[in-house]
Amino acid sequence: MNSPRPVYLDYAATTPVDPEVVAVMNACLTDSGTFGNPSSTHVHGLAAAARVSAARAQVAALIGATPEEIIFTSGATEANNLAILGYARANADRGRHLVSVRTEHKSVLDALRQLTREGFTVTWITPGDGGVVEPAALAAALRPDTMLVSVMYANNETGVLQDITALAAVCRARGIAFHSDAAQAAGKVPLDVRECGADLLSFTAHKLYGPKGVGALYVRKDTHAFLQPLTFGGGQERGLRPGTLPTHQLAGFGAACELARHGLGAETARLALLGARLWAGLAALGGVHLNGAAAPRLPGILNVSFEGVQGESLVAGLTGIAVSTGAACDSDSPEPSYVLRALGRDRQLAESSLRFSLGRSTSESEVDRAIEAVREVLAGLRAWSPGTVAGDDLPSAWVTELAGGTGRTLRGEGGGAGEDSWVRFQLLVAGDTVKDARFKAFGCPHTMSTAAWVCAQLPGRRRTALIPGTPQEWSQAQRVPVEKLGRLFAIEDALRACLAQWP
Ligand SMILES: *Cc1c(COP(=O)(O)O)cnc(C)c1O
Repeated sequence: MNSPRPVYLDYAATTPVDPEVVAVMNACLTDSGTFGNPSSTHVHGLAAAARVSAARAQVAALIGATPEEIIFTSGATEANNLAILGYARANADRGRHLVSVRTEHKSVLDALRQLTREGFTVTWITPGDGGVVEPAALAAALRPDTMLVSVMYANNETGVLQDITALAAVCRARGIAFHSDAAQAAGKVPLDVRECGADLLSFTAHKLYGPKGVGALYVRKDTHAFLQPLTFGGGQERGLRPGTLPTHQLAGFGAACELARHGLGAETARLALLGARLWAGLAALGGVHLNGAAAPRLPGILNVSFEGVQGESLVAGLTGIAVSTGAACDSDSPEPSYVLRALGRDRQLAESSLRFSLGRSTSESEVDRAIEAVREVLAGLRAWSPGTVAGDDLPSAWVTELAGGTGRTLRGEGGGAGEDSWVRFQLLVAGDTVKDARFKAFGCPHTMSTAAWVCAQLPGRRRTALIPGTPQEWSQAQRVPVEKLGRLFAIEDALRACLAQWP
């Protein structure tokens, strides 16, 4: 109850709203503020419209666009959908082929999948080992009927940056439109749409210390980037995104963009130092890998894989820090991160990866607390892992017993390296009775706790009734969710293997 709030290292999932931004938003809400409908033509409406214009200019300035090129949306998810669905549907006569990358955000992947149901074809590029999409790989994926390419600027899981200037140039040379999801990059690294040459670019307020529920799509005005709206209703946002403009959200977004633009250089340098400090501390723990290490990356994101520990157990143990495993929106999926698999990580390493993302309030002492928290949990889990030979020696009482000639030891394993679970039991038996038992386990928290519970039942049991019940019964006693039941079979297998050695 009284434990301190965990250190927040999940700024890539969302950021707190800057207090200055909150003040700006508050001034747009009440009777005394600019609460009017920006579409109304009376004084209240005109004041709100002026507030929206100012915000639009601030948002445009962050990415070097003109205010007319900004279409406000509910966030980057909607901006990605509007860009991809809106462009493809409006320009289907130019071709029905699109190109994107396997490591994109779900809102790009799923919008493209929707297009495949509408008769479009998508070619998926797998990035190279470091996570980078080479311009040559993009060029090779283009076809005469390619009409749109979508490549994110900064990856939300690994922070890997793509050279969108080079990729956009490949597209421009062939008259193909280029979209980039810049939700993680905007406000974090310099971004100028004139320089990078993107035709469409998405970003969102809540990743840069603005409010949730508002974002923008940049639509280059001097190109063929004609879009079809996704919703219908009014003339707002040039008919591309009708609906009453949320003045407070837009004012907050604008203020957040302005703060980000002014603080960018200093903040980037500060985060790079903190990130280096975090990595130095984690690397010293041994058996850790920085994903995307060879590629240019955002300064604030470190995606790290830990050898020899199971991801769920790692996260369950890390109560002192708020971090994410892979993408936050994906945490209910049993599949290991598709982004890390696409980077060539094996299943265990992809599963045992954490994304540390640092932000404006992150301090050196928080980084140090995070390193310490990981060190403790990692040491604990590794000490219990059958893969770690050290610490697997027989207890001295057993050695004495064995020297006395009355006992013998049995050793059995279930599951194995590279599998979901790996359990080892060592039993000291005398005659037909278990005198003592030890276990090692690699697996989810349920596997660990059930193995411990079963192990505690073993002393005193006889050869004819060694196994205390069935995995089904254990799962009920330990309240293990049914979908995890399969993992407990490794425990039973390990005991069976012990039995097989018992003469
Ligand atoms: C957060 C994020 C999104 C989604 O943005 P919302 O505003 O939450 O809809 C899209 N793409 C990337 C890369 C993101 O990090």
